[in-house]
Order: sequence, then structure tokens, then C-alpha cells
Amino acid sequence: MKTLPGSTLGMLGGGQLGRMFTIAARTMGYEVVVLDPDKESPAGKLATTHICADYADQAALEQIAKNCDAITTEFENVPASTLEALAKTKPVRPGAKAISIAQDRIQEKNFLKDNGFYTAPFAVINSLEDLKNSISKIGTPAILKVSRFGYDGKGQFGINAESDIEKAWETLEGEACVLEQRMPLDIEVSVVLARGTEGEVVTYPVSENIHEGGILDVSVVPARINEDLETKVTDLAKQIATALDYVGIMAVEFFISNDELLVNEIAPRPHNSGHYTLDACVTDQFEQQVRAVCGLPLGDTRLLSPVVMINMLGDIWHNDQTPKWQKLLNHPNVKLHLYGKKEARPGRKMGHFNVLAENIDDALKLAEDLKNQLSKAN
Ligand code: ATP
Ligand code: MG
Repeated sequence: MKTLPGSTLGMLGGGQLGRMFTIAARTMGYEVVVLDPDKESPAGKLATTHICADYADQAALEQIAKNCDAITTEFENVPASTLEALAKTKPVRPGAKAISIAQDRIQEKNFLKDNGFYTAPFAVINSLEDLKNSISKIGTPAILKVSRFGYDGKGQFGINAESDIEKAWETLEGEACVLEQRMPLDIEVSVVLARGTEGEVVTYPVSENIHEGGILDVSVVPARINEDLETKVTDLAKQIATALDYVGIMAVEFFISNDELLVNEIAPRPHNSGHYTLDACVTDQFEQQVRAVCGLPLGDTRLLSPVVMINMLGDIWHNDQTPKWQKLLNHPNVKLHLYGKKEARPGRKMGHFNVLAENIDDALKLAEDLKNQLSKAN
């Protein structure tokens, strides 16, 4: 069944991804109900209705089930029980199964391994004992990552020598973890894709991603990889979506290490590395999410221009001074996106900008220049 404009969509989570979904949905004539416990939620401000409550709040879930025609999410940490409860009355896309895999690194890594997708060598860690035993197999350098609730490199600890083991275990407070070999990275790339209710898949052009301190910093599209690799990456992402029997928008992050292609992780939602689609593709990833969730035909993912996306973190608000937006706005080929967050904390994603140009080199040069100008104290 298709959910058509005029209907009401439920969005679990009210961060920037929910906000950009809300903008797309409202542009297309849908009403949006956002559930987020934060009063200042970026998506809540633009929603038709913001339900300010916890993700497991019974009354809130009843209200969503009653008023929404289809439901989706913008972050993987929504409790699976919430998705299952809502799915009893309304379509929830993606479903609880795919989200419960993506929200738990142990399940995610095991899913990938069991389905024949290569990842960095890893071990499941439930105790200090496990960690001591596994480090000899995985070797150093390695990274210990909490299984649940990690994001933007949070909940991770680098282990460079056996002497770091106890500190790593203490820092992550003895939670269930995955220990991963730290791979030498040639390049990191990702694929955003949408899979519809009939199993049809559309993929976006591969994005090349540069991280800074575990947080995405720059995306370059088209990625500077050869065609053969581009096809492989895209096919793998499709196969993963199909293996998950996925409906909705998702992203797969890859490492290319010593010419080998490894899956890093799966995001069951729009992705930061897909923000370039907002200005550079026929259909952006948020409209695509609306289409997939509503059972509509999927949109054209064609790239209209080379593009570079730059993330803007709270760090560039020196002494609470607003960055000089004028620097960006002076350029007709630069597109500014701000998420409406009041408090600029270091590491907090506040917005991004897209630079469109004839070629990647020109886009990168202007993007880097502008980034430096924005973040200068004076
Ligand atoms: P997000 O959800 O924002 O992508 P996250 O907290 O889930 O972040 P990861 O994707 O696991 O974090 O790691 C963040 C970045 O750290 C990676 O994109 C990569 O640059 C680096 N990294 C993580 N794991 C490895 C690894 N095994 N080898 C080399 N680099 C790694
Ligand atoms: Mg990641």
C-alpha cells in the first residue's frame, strides 16, 4: 500500500537527520510527528507535532500508532521493542530486525561474517579475560569498541600495546565490546542506498570519506577510486541490504585496506556521508527515505555535479562566536545547511556545506579554503 501526500509520517528521533527528513516530507505535503525526549530537538522544531517523550513511553507510542500512517527512524538506538510494538498496527520501515542488527556491533559483525562479507578481523569481548586472550590473536594496534550506543568514534579505545589492555577495559566500563584489528587504510568510502517494498534497490554514487578524530570531516563525490572498485562496493552494499531484507534508506561504510575491500559498518538510516545528495543529486537521501517508507517509486539518484561536503562541528564556534557565514554565502556554488542547534559543543555536528564545481579538485580547493576561513578565530 502506498502512503500518499496528505498522510502523516512518524519519525523516531529528532536530530539533524530527522530534521532533514521532516523538511523533505513536509515539502512533499506530508505531516510529520517527531518523537524525541529533547525539548530543543532539531527535527521537533519543524515537525507538525513534536512528542517530547522517551522512546519507550507507552502513551507516546500509542499516539504515534494512532496518528501516523507509516513510521521510520533516524537513529539506530531506538529500542527494538518500540519498533515491534508500532509494527503491530502500522508499517515501520526499516523493521526491528535490521535495526537490532545495526544497533549492536556484535550482532552486526556476526551478521556480516555469517553472510560472507569481509570485515577487519574481530573478536567479541565480554570480559577482561576475553580481551587478554583475543589481543594475542588480533594483534596490535587494535581498537576496542563498545557494542552498543557508540557514535562518531565515541565508545572506542585504541590499544597500541598489551600494556593498554586494562586501561581500555576500564575506560569502556566493562561493557560488551568488539575488538578490531586497526587496519592501514588506503581510503574510506560509503554507499547510501534505498530498498523499496518490492525489493527494488537504487544506489547513490560512492562517496569518499575523510575522518578526523573518528568523526566524518569531508566527503568527496565521485570517490577517487577506479570503476571496478566502484562497482564492487556498490554491489556489496546492495547484497547487504538484500540479506537484511531491508526496506528504507541505509548506508554501508567500507574500508579499503591493502587493496582489500572490508565492510566497516551499516547505518539503518540516512547517513552523514550522503549529505552531498541534498544539493548534487536529482533525489536527495531524505526525499528517498520518504519514498521508500511510503512505498512510492524510488527517485533518480543521478549525480548532477561533482561535490565536496564539509562537516561543521561545534569546534568552529570560537568563544561562542558564530562562524562567518558570509564567507560561504559569497559563493553561488556553495550550499549552507545548519541544524538549528543552540549549543555549540566541541565535536557536535552543527551543520555542513556542499561545494559544487566543474571537477573535484576545484571543489576541494574551495571547500578547504572556506573551512579554514570559517574556523579562524579572527
Ligand atoms: P559513526 O557511527 O559516526 O560512523 P562510529 O563511532 O560507529 O562512528 P566507526 O565507524 O567504527 O565509528 O569508526 C570511526 C572511524 O574510525 C572510521 O571511519 C575509521 O576512520 C576509524 N576506524 C574505525 N575502526 C577502524 C579499524 N578497524 N581500522 C582502522 N580505522 C578504523
Ligand atoms: Mg562509522
